[in-house]
Amino acid sequence: MPEYRTLRDLVAALPKVELHVHLVGSAGHHTVAALARRHPSSGVPTDPAGLREFYTFRTFDDFLAAFWAVQSLLRDGTDIATLVSGLARDLAAQNCRYAEVTVTPYNHLLDGMDGDELLAGLAAGRAAAAAEHGVDLAWCFDIPGERGAVAGRETVVFALRNRPDGLVGFGLGGPEVGVGRARFAPFFTAAREAGLHSVPHAGETTGPATVWSAIHDLGAERIGHGTSCVADPRLLEYLAEHRIPLEVCPTSNVRTGQVPSVAAHPVRRMLDHGLVVTLNTDDPPMFGATLNGEYLAVATALGLRPAEVVELARAGVTAAFLPEERRAALLAEIDAVGRDAQILLPRGDDVA
Ligand SMILES: [Zn+2]
Repeated sequence: MPEYRTLRDLVAALPKVELHVHLVGSAGHHTVAALARRHPSSGVPTDPAGLREFYTFRTFDDFLAAFWAVQSLLRDGTDIATLVSGLARDLAAQNCRYAEVTVTPYNHLLDGMDGDELLAGLAAGRAAAAAEHGVDLAWCFDIPGERGAVAGRETVVFALRNRPDGLVGFGLGGPEVGVGRARFAPFFTAAREAGLHSVPHAGETTGPATVWSAIHDLGAERIGHGTSCVADPRLLEYLAEHRIPLEVCPTSNVRTGQVPSVAAHPVRRMLDHGLVVTLNTDDPPMFGATLNGEYLAVATALGLRPAEVVELARAGVTAAFLPEERRAALLAEIDAVGRDAQILLPRGDDVA
């Protein structure tokens, strides 16, 4: 009989999925060190103290600088495979069984990486993730919105021409301000007609109108962040009624200054309105986030009961683009943990 004496035990025991994590932003210290050793001319540190400093952000620009420094360390398929398998190792440590990982092919191609190298690296990393870490990976190829329509076109052409194993989603990232969702509609139409799922970022740094546009113009099946939806009662109603899940990344929103704290995060109102809320990490080591940490932070800040924590894990699996058999198996595992938790963690105030 497992023992769940604390909320932390319960969160760790729950099988989880991650639906919003950017491949480049997922690079942990060990991965950055391995890549920097391979490319010493990059100037990126390889020692623990230097890496700690590399990951200490005082401003949002510090974060962007680190992100682009990691991006610059990725030169070939071997680098990509190292990055993917490092992410899988970190996910396994969170008892995360499946992740839909956002890859931005356009940025890698722009940096001069060969498309076949990128695909070979993704395939090798995905195979290692399953074999060595027991984590199944799927891909979402996303458009870096700040690079405009040309990036949209290149991304959809690359995605549909190559169609790697595990590609399930098509996204749109980068800044939202001044980068309207609607201009990317033709690329989303093509991707959706080819069977990819629409998962654009929307409503992270702009208002609910961007979420509406993601739904109407891009056919969004899930919303990346969607934080500002709480400002529009009609949108809350729509998201709840149509069961459109939100990929909520609480620590990321705090670290980028969108919300002052997890306690003040709109996730409380999202749950109160019956929205499908999934918890995710966005750029985990860069924001000092872990998947278990997100569950703990939200559960603690909102005073969730064990059954509600279990429900968050279920929501992630429900919102994932998984084959039905795999989904059912994961839900059954979660429910088994939930049943034990009910016995062992009967009262919310015992578990913090
Ligand atoms: Zn994101």
